[in-house]
Amino acid sequence: MQPFDLVLFGGTGDLAMRKLLPALYRRHLAGQIPPGSRLLGVARGDLSREAYVALVEASCRASEGSLDATQWPAFVERLHYLSADALRPDSFGAIAGFLAGRDEVTRVFFLSTAPALFAGICSQIGRLGLATPASRVVLEKPLGQDLATAEIINQQVGAAFGEHQIYRIDHYLGKEAVQNLMALRFGNALFEPLWARGRIRHVQITVAETIGVETRGSFYDQTGALRDMVQNHLLQLLCIIAMEPPASSDADAMRDEKLKVLRALRPITGAAVLAKTVRGQYRAGASGGKPVSGYLEETGVPVDSGTETFVALKAEIDSWRWAGVPFYLRTGKRLQEKVSEIVVTFEDVPHSIFGPSAGVQSPNRLRICLQPCDSITLTILAKSPGDGMRLKPVDLSLDLAASFKTQQLDAYERLLMDVVKGNLTLFMRRDELDAAWRWIDPIREGWAQHDASPKGYTAGSWGPAASSVLIGRDGFGWHGEL
Ligand code: NAP
Repeated sequence: MQPFDLVLFGGTGDLAMRKLLPALYRRHLAGQIPPGSRLLGVARGDLSREAYVALVEASCRASEGSLDATQWPAFVERLHYLSADALRPDSFGAIAGFLAGRDEVTRVFFLSTAPALFAGICSQIGRLGLATPASRVVLEKPLGQDLATAEIINQQVGAAFGEHQIYRIDHYLGKEAVQNLMALRFGNALFEPLWARGRIRHVQITVAETIGVETRGSFYDQTGALRDMVQNHLLQLLCIIAMEPPASSDADAMRDEKLKVLRALRPITGAAVLAKTVRGQYRAGASGGKPVSGYLEETGVPVDSGTETFVALKAEIDSWRWAGVPFYLRTGKRLQEKVSEIVVTFEDVPHSIFGPSAGVQSPNRLRICLQPCDSITLTILAKSPGDGMRLKPVDLSLDLAASFKTQQLDAYERLLMDVVKGNLTLFMRRDELDAAWRWIDPIREGWAQHDASPKGYTAGSWGPAASSVLIGRDGFGWHGEL
């Protein structure tokens, strides 16, 4: 690694303190932040460098438990802080002064602020000529509220930075388990012949949370589960499952294939929205054995809010590989379990030679668990010991963390270092983002026209009953709920 400068706008915010700075500290311990590198926190708060260091120390301590006393002073040497208001052009002079004379050094602008500030920050960076050829900008989600607003942000950011300099983060793509999904599909010849219609019956993608909106009620109410989770994380997982093998692991080769999947998604428009999607909102219930309030009682949420905290939908991909194979996507807050998983269910055997006495003949299933575990489980049928031929499902399980016995990188550690190295593979290209919004927007429009309000579900359940009806109509059930 060569020395680099990282300017962290929103350097005192929740994401910076909870995720980004601890991730940078861990990369420092790994020797990836070489001497000569500088990490500059920027926010409006009038803080001295010492006060900022104290904040970062508290957040790293909270994240890591303890700090390495021999390494911490060198990390502190790299930390700096400047107060600037992204809405006041005159306050960028100090940032320009800080960066002056280091044009050849890799320069990262990480925008960990509300997206409403992206344009202002980028226009100041452009105006002051700070976007050197060695610069890149990192954008946190959500990138827009729909296609139109995303296009405006992209144009404004694009006025200062070339597309090859723009890193749109979807931190799901940085997760070890998602990387493993690519290894599973493209590092093994075993699955490819089975990876298509005729072999796969259906695919489920679930990202379930047990928490509610916590302190982010007013932000969440402007966003909702469809925009917060489906538009980015779930669609990206779908892309990795469904994409054609790229010619190489080159960033554009991967992103071209993901884009083809997004463009092949059958639009869900008009009244079809009622048949193919379910939106829900949690009501009071229980989580972890404790009573919890409903969404409408959360701080910052209007009492008559129609924002969804749950979405289930049936996606179809119009391509030779996937025609007729439904992809069921589900995500929500205050659900029964915290789990992120992809379940691929294969076709039944074409003819059973064992007859009814062999018992229930469930199909083979591949479960890729991203959270809380990092595991791959293939369910096959085996003979139950004893007399007669009775078949039972058994699991072939691979616990990836236990198998490799090395500490895994947090998603932000990997993504931050990819930005510094200039590797765009795990970041969304503008046309991917546009294609995702193009598919999502009609669903929201359909809800507005045909579906007056989200269906209530009890906190601690698996969402509205209509979600089971959605998948049950095709003769299937959600994994984990059966
Ligand atoms: P936050 O806690 O509200 O922090 C916002 C940061 O921006 C603070 O440092 C704030 O400091 C600074 N700021 C606000 N107005 C500013 C201005 N005019 N000029 C300069 N700095 C300004 O927000 P966050 O939760 O960290 O989220 C940051 C971004 O990451 C958002 O886009 C969010 O959607 C995204 N994100 C967050 C999470 C998460 O877990 N938190 C997860 C995924 C994505 P001052 O008030 O002192 O200026």
